[in-house]
Amino acid sequence: MLDLDTCQGYANCVMVAPEVFDIDEEKGTAILLQETPDDSQLAAVEEAVRQCPTEAISLEG
Ligand code: SF4
Repeated sequence: MLDLDTCQGYANCVMVAPEVFDIDEEKGTAILLQETPDDSQLAAVEEAVRQCPTEAISLEG
């Protein structure tokens, strides 16, 4: 999940997992494109969790 109150729009997540995250240009925060990333996207999402400077991303399940 994505905590938009914490997200500062650094876009690290978009760089490592562009299929899962995008940036909302108006709000300046990330958008979740894939609520439930499939297995092929999981490694990229885990990397995004590590790369996010504000720890706004968390994986569930
Ligand atoms: S890396 Fe974190 S702070 Fe940056 S846009 Fe993604 S969720 Fe937001």
